[in-house]
Amino acid sequence: MDAPHSSVTPEQIWAWLGEVSDPEIPVISVVDLGIVRAVEVLNDEECVVTITPTYSGCPAMQVIADAVTGALRGHGLKHVRLVNQLSPAWTTDWMSEAGRIKLKDYGIAPPAQQVVDISGLTAGVKRHSLPPKPSVACPRCGSPHTELASQFGSTPCKALYKCLDCREPFDYFKCH
Ligand SMILES: [Zn+2]
Repeated sequence: MDAPHSSVTPEQIWAWLGEVSDPEIPVISVVDLGIVRAVEVLNDEECVVTITPTYSGCPAMQVIADAVTGALRGHGLKHVRLVNQLSPAWTTDWMSEAGRIKLKDYGIAPPAQQVVDISGLTAGVKRHSLPPKPSVACPRCGSPHTELASQFGSTPCKALYKCLDCREPFDYFKCH
């Protein structure tokens, strides 16, 4: 009987996927982005990767799917099955902390943490103020004084903002 050659582990697959960059934002990987939900190894040549798109209809998903399949094939996994899992929907909370930092360093404002105050709702108090907008800090100078310039930035996943202090436009990653 032949001794089994290199066994592929799910951890190894995760590490390989960590080298597959997002086609729109090359500095972050698909793992940083938080779209890889599960990895299952069937044998040394077959695996199943479950991916949740950032939003249904995101034009980058096919590119991402091809990149994931191509990368794993390059590591000897001849049969890579991709499963699209749409529920639960991806949220920006799934993005790793490392991914957020890399986004900011790249000049894209990472998704703001939305803090929704529901105390007024539960207490039956009528809301008289507009819901708070997440403040988007300028990735260059850190100023919170920014304004939305366009709903669509360089790709549909981003909005174009402008910093009111350093006057620089920047992309804001808005997928949710
Ligand atoms: Zn600025």
